[in-house]
Amino acid sequence: MTDLPFLPFAKPDITDAEVNAAADAIRSGWLTTGPSAKAFEQEFAEFLGSDLTAIAINSATAGLHLALESLGIGPGDEVLVPTWTFTSTAEVVRYLGATPILVDVDPVTLNIDYESAAAKVSSRTRAVMPVHIAGLMVSPEATREFAARHGLAVVEDAAHALPARAGGEVVGTGASHATVFSFYATKTITTGEGGMVVTRDQAAADRMRTMRLHGISRDVFNRYSSRTPAWQYEVVAPGFKYNLSDPAAAIGRVQLGRAVAMRDARAEIARRYTEAFADLGLTLPADAAEGDLHSWHLYMIRVPDGLDRDDVVQRLADLGIGTSVHFIPLHLHPYWQDLGGHRPEDFPVATREFGRVISLPAFSAMTDAEVERIIEAVRIVCR
Ligand SMILES: *Cc1c(COP(=O)(O)O)cnc(C)c1O
Repeated sequence: MTDLPFLPFAKPDITDAEVNAAADAIRSGWLTTGPSAKAFEQEFAEFLGSDLTAIAINSATAGLHLALESLGIGPGDEVLVPTWTFTSTAEVVRYLGATPILVDVDPVTLNIDYESAAAKVSSRTRAVMPVHIAGLMVSPEATREFAARHGLAVVEDAAHALPARAGGEVVGTGASHATVFSFYATKTITTGEGGMVVTRDQAAADRMRTMRLHGISRDVFNRYSSRTPAWQYEVVAPGFKYNLSDPAAAIGRVQLGRAVAMRDARAEIARRYTEAFADLGLTLPADAAEGDLHSWHLYMIRVPDGLDRDDVVQRLADLGIGTSVHFIPLHLHPYWQDLGGHRPEDFPVATREFGRVISLPAFSAMTDAEVERIIEAVRIVCR
């Protein structure tokens, strides 16, 4: 037990700049999607440094849904999803009446294992959804090779991966159909709730923009007359309500400007942990290869044989340290287990590693003293 205040697992890094930007947006009178959202989209595409179209949405889940919808995925189709992810990645496949096919993961990175994935490809498989766990990217080359060999589209779940780079390639700028980012409160940049989908496919971008807002198309009128009254529009599909509000986008623009500095702060925390835990017998997270960039969204340790994960979590909590587990693999959740008829042993790597994994606090707003406190607590509990 401890007298120190409880240190939560995650805390957003919000400064006066974000508060003022949100206040300005509210005062401007644009409470829904407007000029801030548009500017945020442009700045986001520029941040990735490529000729991308960025589409702001109110969650990454919405973006993943739009990306698959723009591929025309539907009933009878199968989509490969790593079992090591948040339920969003798979649930959007079900929204469209298609079936997610779960795949085991690499024991080091916990990212999708393309060898296991290859064994699950069928004539119905349409797409694969690599997830960049913790912000350490799946090799873009491996993804491209796998997708080309099996004729699949790629939708990347980059909810953890801003900013990140692998094989000299910035996340989101590769050959994938679309890449989706999350601005949920605990993610690497936040708008409270929000997200961004990026693509280089103009037809997909048009479709996602239309479906983002009720399936409403205004373009058809703009094309013929600039004097069309503002109330004119056409519904061309039963779309969704996935747009990002301007106050949220205003927060996002400030956060985007701080994304690299916040990533560097997390990387420094990760460096200190890795140095301090070297002699403990824990499995520590891999860094990105030389020249690549890890976003360090999460710092995930794995407890050694002989230590019980749940016991470690409890003892850290007794010392006032909040932790989390990313993730409970999908095949261990009742819905996904029943849907696929899965047994834990069908995914040996994910099932084994799930029993060992803990995410430590590693948010950019953490103080030096807080980092030291966590190091000390982990050294006591995992000695
Ligand atoms: C957070 C998360 C999501 C969902 O993001 P939202 O913006 O909350 O919809 C999807 N996939 C992964 C891997 C996540 O961690």
